[in-house]
Amino acid sequence: MRIGVIALQGGFAEHISMLSRCGADAHPVRLPSQIDGLDGIVIPGGESTALRILMTEYGLIDPLRDLINGGLPVLGTCAGMVLLAQEQADPGRSGPGMMDIEVDRNAFGRQAESFESELSIPALGDRPFPGVFVRAPIVRAIGDGVQILCQLPGGTIVAVQQENRLACSFHPELTNDLRFHKYFLSFNQGDAIAKGSYRRSRCAA
Ligand code: GLN
Repeated sequence: MRIGVIALQGGFAEHISMLSRCGADAHPVRLPSQIDGLDGIVIPGGESTALRILMTEYGLIDPLRDLINGGLPVLGTCAGMVLLAQEQADPGRSGPGMMDIEVDRNAFGRQAESFESELSIPALGDRPFPGVFVRAPIVRAIGDGVQILCQLPGGTIVAVQQENRLACSFHPELTNDLRFHKYFLSFNQGDAIAKGSYRRSRCAA
């Protein structure tokens, strides 16, 4: 299974390592030509403004949006989730709109307020998942087709899925727990989602 990881900024190396440990063939992606023929794409954490500017300059946003809207599985973590969002709290900074969610950036405060917390994620089984939150966003609102995968005890939404699109506020790639990435990879087996109209051939150049 060929998975691309956007490798312009942020924690792409950790995702590549995690996906490789799950048995996937994971590659860094920097150019539009490198997203052809993929079975999935990851937008890592980092700094979402920098990531947005770089992805725009490298011409990745529009082809990615088309592929994702066509059903290509995507995982966005932290800043990657911000990139997938429809709209942000910051006025005038609307996201590329690849997922029907609204997020608040840096919702827990500054870097020093970063934290770890055991998470209940029923889709991954009963065992708690180690949540690593680094200047994390939260999901403020979701559209009709979006499913909540994880909430903090107070109800704050920190992981969501919309068919082929998976997003979380935390960093599964900074843990030793492969379950979140395996869940993402299961999208290709078709048992986790309705894959919409995606066909692998749509990606072939
Ligand atoms: N606070 C960052 C942003 O909004 C995201 C942090 C992260 O990806 N760890 O861009």
